[in-house]
Amino acid sequence: QLSERLKRVAAFVPEGAVLADIGSDHAYLPCYLALKGVIKGAIAGEVVRGPYDSAKKQVRQEGLEDIIEVRLASGLAAIRQTDGVTAITIAGMGGPLITSILEEGKVKLEGVERLILQANVHGKSIREWAAANQWAIFEEEILKENDKIYEIIVLEPASSPVKYSEEELLMGPILMAEKSSVFIDKWSRESSQWKRILVSMEATEQTLQILAKKKELVDKIHLVEEVLHVEN
Ligand code: SAM
Repeated sequence: QLSERLKRVAAFVPEGAVLADIGSDHAYLPCYLALKGVIKGAIAGEVVRGPYDSAKKQVRQEGLEDIIEVRLASGLAAIRQTDGVTAITIAGMGGPLITSILEEGKVKLEGVERLILQANVHGKSIREWAAANQWAIFEEEILKENDKIYEIIVLEPASSPVKYSEEELLMGPILMAEKSSVFIDKWSRESSQWKRILVSMEATEQTLQILAKKKELVDKIHLVEEVLHVEN
């Protein structure tokens, strides 16, 4: 039984895609999509031997070896030019790790039509990378499972330069417009956390570094509260 989080990621994979699932762990996501007949083929990439072995075992057990190839490699090095990959999923990691995988493997993105990225934290770094590399935010989703909140950011190549405002980068342009209850929950939690940090900072020496950090937090709190329409 696939987690709700991975089901939502799967929902963004186009019919007929050739998928590369990077950091695939047990390869649950490509197996699910192959069994549903959504994908034509897949590469399940893993950098760690243990998860790589689990992925191999899972694919064999499901009888999907003709559709899914498991490869031991770091990041997009799992993809070969001849694979004809059209969609990439990277899920269950922090935004900065996802971004570094994309940055290091940029040459492998040629011909890829969609990136489906699920960040556990710091979705902002993905949006910054997208804007800097001419990928547009095509779709976004926020969901809660077992009291954890996850963001899914779907990118497609943009034909012209993309630019997002500071609040769009932090909170997501589509999620901001939707303002779902999970979104409000996430940013209320974050803002409360920043306020607690601010209070704790009062007890330390007010060095220039601390003052700069405090300003950064105050700015972020204002930005979030403006979007949430919190009255001060
Ligand atoms: N994608 C699955 C999910 O969302 O449930 C597994 C997530 S698991 C928390 C992260 C996986 O990514 C681990 O199995 C880890 O070994 C793998 N990983 C981390 N860095 C990687 C990299 N640079 N290249 C490939 N796999 C990586």
